[in-house]
Amino acid sequence: MPKQKIRTRFAPSPSGLLHLGHAYSALFAEKEAKDGDGTLLLRFEDIDRERCDPKYEKQIEEDLSWLNIKWEDSPRRQSEHLTDYSAALKKLETLNIIYPCFLSRRELNDALSAPHNIPTQTNDIMPLNTDQYLSETERERRIKKEEPFALRLRMTTALKMVGPLYWHDIDKGPQIARPEIFGDAVIARKDIPTSYHLSVVVDDAIQKVTTVTRGNDLFEATHLHRLLQELLGLHVPLYKHHKILIDNNGERMAKRDKSITLQSLRLSGKKPADIYKMIGFTR
Ligand code: GLU
Repeated sequence: MPKQKIRTRFAPSPSGLLHLGHAYSALFAEKEAKDGDGTLLLRFEDIDRERCDPKYEKQIEEDLSWLNIKWEDSPRRQSEHLTDYSAALKKLETLNIIYPCFLSRRELNDALSAPHNIPTQTNDIMPLNTDQYLSETERERRIKKEEPFALRLRMTTALKMVGPLYWHDIDKGPQIARPEIFGDAVIARKDIPTSYHLSVVVDDAIQKVTTVTRGNDLFEATHLHRLLQELLGLHVPLYKHHKILIDNNGERMAKRDKSITLQSLRLSGKKPADIYKMIGFTR
């Protein structure tokens, strides 16, 4: 059988300019593709219409081209594929593992920090059966008023349907999937009929991504993604998580810090080779 060609992707949100941390992530994805004689794809994760702006897409493409990073095809824009996500959502609905949650973030936090919810084993309390926190009458009232709701995954039921799951991190080896750490995760947000988690597993499957590369901050998210792949019958890519770059103050680089955007560095006369040096990346 011919060896499967490696396909990686760089998936920024066009909600600001790229900074040094993004450059590291993009080069990391590109290197993984190149080492395997494969291809790099570009995806704009722009489901959050409030935060994203198409003007950043152009600038992201410019920055990547300046760094001499090449991607295959035109970028996939998530906002243009909402029907793919709703099809996946339908599938989960037919499995009876999705339910509406009307709670606001504040209501949920209050409910979860109530004394009887103080956890004994972990510091994180994850929501389960959130409908228990709303009285039947209040729920009815919100339904009648057509108040917006999120859709949550019924974690306990979903786990029973699948059995033990694993995924493979290229650097760290085989991982036992622990999606339960998310509790009843939000699969479709109140404001958008999908979520990061749902969109990303659907896109990785549609774009035939063989190796998902991304920051270590999303390592735990992979547990939930593995469960969604199983429930949706999607292929399971390999994973490779990279370190998160920190700035001079020891903090995680952020879009709001204008001094480290690739655009400002470029305008201040820096060359791509300087950027590689700053982020300690050898090509
Ligand atoms: N859009 C995410 C970010 O900008 C990346 C998600 C992923 O690679 O799965 O951090």
